[in-house]
Amino acid sequence: MFWRTRWRLVLWNSLVVACILAIFSISIYSFLSVQLINNVDRSMIVQLQPVLQTVQSGKKPPALAEPPRPRVPRGRLLGQQRTVISPLNGQPLGVIVWRRNGTLAFPAPKYLTSSDIRQLKAYVRPLRPEDITIEQQPVRLVVIPVNANVAGIVRPLLVMGLRNISGVLETLQELRWITFAGIALGVGIAFAIGIILADRALIPIRKAWDLQVQFVADASHELRTPIASIQANSEWLIGHSEEWSDQQVQTMHGIFAETKRLSRLLNFLLTLARSDANTSQLAIKNTDISSLTKELSEQFAPLCEASEIQFHVHVAEGIAGGIDPDRIRQVLFNLLDNARKFTAKNGRIALSCTQTRRSVQWVISDTGIGINPTELTRIFDRFYQGDSSRSNASGMGLGLSIVKWIVEAHGGSIHVRSQKGQGSQFTVLIPLHIYNQEP
Ligand code: ADP
Repeated sequence: MFWRTRWRLVLWNSLVVACILAIFSISIYSFLSVQLINNVDRSMIVQLQPVLQTVQSGKKPPALAEPPRPRVPRGRLLGQQRTVISPLNGQPLGVIVWRRNGTLAFPAPKYLTSSDIRQLKAYVRPLRPEDITIEQQPVRLVVIPVNANVAGIVRPLLVMGLRNISGVLETLQELRWITFAGIALGVGIAFAIGIILADRALIPIRKAWDLQVQFVADASHELRTPIASIQANSEWLIGHSEEWSDQQVQTMHGIFAETKRLSRLLNFLLTLARSDANTSQLAIKNTDISSLTKELSEQFAPLCEASEIQFHVHVAEGIAGGIDPDRIRQVLFNLLDNARKFTAKNGRIALSCTQTRRSVQWVISDTGIGINPTELTRIFDRFYQGDSSRSNASGMGLGLSIVKWIVEAHGGSIHVRSQKGQGSQFTVLIPLHIYNQEP
């Protein structure tokens, strides 16, 4: 009964935790990634200061004069082997000095190929630190303008600093994985704790529900006997009313009709209370469904005749399977009776019973008043009565909720199609299982 609420609570709990974790982790990740890149930029600028001073004084910068430990093959910026130190890997800084016209002011460092130089030429302008890729390596690049004083002549030059940041990106990638794993773990734990919390939160609700269900079941059960007695007595009185005035007979008929209605209501309430408490068991037995349907339609035909409604029946032969015959009779009768109640004189009701692959299907259609689209979703609710049926004294708004419960208890489904003013069609589908008992 409460499993939907339970899972909804658990899912909401997990969703809220996931959102909080995601916001928190994304904030931390963004902050750390900005910090790491800023650190790279800051250290690059600091390392570039002596280079800038050397270039300003018109000398060749030291990083150009002697590339640190060129253990990588010439022309490679270092890729996979992290142990090899290159100017573009880690702390060492790659430096290239350009003239404003895009030519090299000093010979290019040996670790750069001519295609690298061509690629870098596109960035020869003052640049704030930005990411580029050289030879599939992520590199942070900055270009600072500087005026070199060569023998009293001032020459505008551009000092380009390069640093391979694959290490930083790897760290960020690891951080991303840790973040995702943290979120997944957090959500998993929240899910597990959510189940325990939801179960605990539902304990008092479950208790209150059980008490309420028990009360309705007990009350309707207890009331059945006195109502049955009133019904029987009023029936007896009606049978011995020869000397009564018309007024008295009419009043007695009124009492009798109302007690009948009350007794029906109590039966409905008892059925629903038992279904809520899961104590209402179906008495499933192998049944000749074709015969059951035909029998019921024969009992129903006179009611249609009395209401001057045409009644068409089509029942396929030989349908049999495990159902609770009394309950299914109740389903069919409720649906047919509704069709009769809501269909005017000269209207038409049709009942068909056919077998699909492993199910039996009943279709009850009428040419009655039909149901509003807004009402369609509510007609299976308890005590729901459409506007048109409120004036109908025999309606209680419980018939379809009981029908739905019986059908679902059989593992089946019920669907309705209707158009206001045109009629309605109820389709009941019940899976068929054959049991080993005698029909
Ligand atoms: P009731 O006792 O009012 O018939 P039900 O649960 O059987 O209660 O039906 C609920 C409501 O669904 C009805 O009040 C009516 O508005 C609508 N309804 C059910 N069957 C039909 C039908 N065949 N045609 C039109 N309206 C229907």
